[in-house]
Amino acid sequence: MSWIDPDFPKTATLSALVGRVLGLNPGMMTGPGTNTYLVGRRDPVLIDTGAGVTDYLPLLEAYLAERGWTQPARVILTHRHRDHMGGIEQLRRRFRGLRVAKMVHRDAALPGPIEDLRDGERVEGDGVTLVPVYTPGHASDHLCYYLVEERALFTGDVVLGGSTTVIPSDDGDLLDYLASLRRLLGLDARRIYPAHGPVIEDGPGRIREYIDHRLMRERQILECLADRVETIPLMVERIYAEVPRSLHAVAAMSVESHLKKLAREGRVLEHRERDAASRWQLV
Ligand SMILES: [Zn+2]
Repeated sequence: MSWIDPDFPKTATLSALVGRVLGLNPGMMTGPGTNTYLVGRRDPVLIDTGAGVTDYLPLLEAYLAERGWTQPARVILTHRHRDHMGGIEQLRRRFRGLRVAKMVHRDAALPGPIEDLRDGERVEGDGVTLVPVYTPGHASDHLCYYLVEERALFTGDVVLGGSTTVIPSDDGDLLDYLASLRRLLGLDARRIYPAHGPVIEDGPGRIREYIDHRLMRERQILECLADRVETIPLMVERIYAEVPRSLHAVAAMSVESHLKKLAREGRVLEHRERDAASRWQLV
């Protein structure tokens, strides 16, 4: 996919308060890779750890040295997906006693001690205040972070720079996701620092695009159902006709998340079939 940009900078200083180090894990789902952010004037707070790619640690250390820093003061995570917290162990080996926090929620196994961080519990760094904002939908444990001094948002995987977000069928929820987008819009942030892709200068504009995109997909699905196109594979064939077939599995997940949302709202019914895809119908 085109959003895997090989020229995406490996490190960048994005403002007086925000630096970025790339997780070096490019791919279809991660774009150029996971962005990790260093926030503060000194002793920076690190947001996310990347996937645990070996070359990330020397890259992080080189960037810390470039800024005259020795190590992150602490780590805060956006959510449990491996490309965000897979780097915890290598960071702990290098920086002994490093504190790590996330919202602990439906987590089966966590690597070592993790502090529980909740919506609204301010994280104070050097010259910065980060406020966790609970934003489920992509993942049930997802926190965004509002940077008070810049009126900026670290959106994790809720808003991305260059792609739409996947709502996984196991732990995702589109109804929650849309509520999370509306909550972020209400914060009236300016910049968005996404976990994948470049900085978004017009934060509210991008959030509105995301909401509009989902509503457009929902209309397309309702049109399919009205035309008796009733299974997910057939809906994907029709709605994603112009999208490469290699992406149809991801598209099917997206259609399923829409149908589950509509079912929760009492607008569609699922008829489970033995040995075949479910049929969906308008109520
Ligand atoms: Zn994720």
